[in-house]
Amino acid sequence: MSDKKTTFSRRDFIKRAGAAGVGSALIPLSALTRAHGSSTSKASEQMIVPTRPFGKTGANVSILSLGGVLKPSDQLVFRQAFKMGVTYWDTANSYGWGKNEKAIGKYFAKFPNDRKKIFLVTKAATSDPQKLTGNLNTSLQRMNTSYIDMYFIHYVSNVKKELTDAVKAWAAKAKAKGSIRFFGFSAHKNMENSMLAAAKLGWIDGIMMSYNYRLMVQSKMKRAVDACAEAGIGLTAMKTQAAFSANFYASIGSETDDALEMTENFLKKGYTAEQAKLKVVWENPNIASICSAISNMTILQANVDAALNKKELSGRDRQRLQQYAQHTAPGYCAGCARICESAIDLDVPISDILRYAMYHHSYGDRNTALRLFNELPAGIKSNILKADYSEAEKYCPQSIQIGKVLKKAYENLS
Ligand code: SF4
Repeated sequence: MSDKKTTFSRRDFIKRAGAAGVGSALIPLSALTRAHGSSTSKASEQMIVPTRPFGKTGANVSILSLGGVLKPSDQLVFRQAFKMGVTYWDTANSYGWGKNEKAIGKYFAKFPNDRKKIFLVTKAATSDPQKLTGNLNTSLQRMNTSYIDMYFIHYVSNVKKELTDAVKAWAAKAKAKGSIRFFGFSAHKNMENSMLAAAKLGWIDGIMMSYNYRLMVQSKMKRAVDACAEAGIGLTAMKTQAAFSANFYASIGSETDDALEMTENFLKKGYTAEQAKLKVVWENPNIASICSAISNMTILQANVDAALNKKELSGRDRQRLQQYAQHTAPGYCAGCARICESAIDLDVPISDILRYAMYHHSYGDRNTALRLFNELPAGIKSNILKADYSEAEKYCPQSIQIGKVLKKAYENLS
């Protein structure tokens, strides 16, 4: 009886401390050290987040980037981030239907002198030069600024098709005009091929790509990162928590023994599993910054604490992360879209839809999931239920039950 009670209590504590969640389960290290009877040193509390060079741009950026969707009423988060040295701010013209950019604009209206200390990134999901100009002008106006530090084309998955000569000319013109300092793209799927292709172009300054403890060990991703580093392209990692949704992928369960053991071990060392997942990405010096969805002060503090924490992960820690990655693989889409999407007869952007489902179930961001899902053309939506996914499932390296998951996504988001 007492054993059972102890086990439940341990599991419950670990679960609450962050075995399966993304942002909300993060807890500040200062709280952990207090809980373990030691105090955070005054010196470390005053430290600010370090910086790293962003490729060959000459810019130094904070290793933690303020990402996600903040509202105009979240000014305190911006202010505190600035004070803590989180001076790389990431947004997109679509985030919160423009509210995120307006929130940044509100901040710059109040603190205009801070603008030059911020590395400001925004994105537009188009390769049409005319639309790029329109989107850029809207972003500049919303954010009360005359320039963007890094302008990304959002969701690039085919460099040849999307980064055309017309885009190259547009970027050069915008730079010459002083509207943007640097240019690049974000990649949520087919990242490795896009990065390898971009490294050969010679005019891409930065890439923001899905990169985490699951992907960073894969040889193709390693090659892609090395090629970009060699080409002087600055790299920002996103989706570093590599979230999987236990509710959605019911067959996996949320509390694998690996997850419990891993989380308990990290907590003993003074950080959560989520913070360990950030630390392992920072171990690669070629990653200039991690873009993290920071929706409130607790997550900001926890992520800053992780950035300041000097304790190194051990080989066993990395092993634990890999075991966890293996056991939860069927809940995580690695974005290798060419494998599954070319194995079905109908046009269905499988990895995109899995990502929208992840926004919904793992990030709790139903609005973004709904917006993106509902932007899909009607024909594609109807294909979702018609397609036969058996071949795609056979080749999926993550062994995802694609048909089942897409059907659920359709039900939840349409
Ligand atoms: S569903 Fe599987 S094959 Fe398709 S992109 Fe995701 S991980 Fe790759």
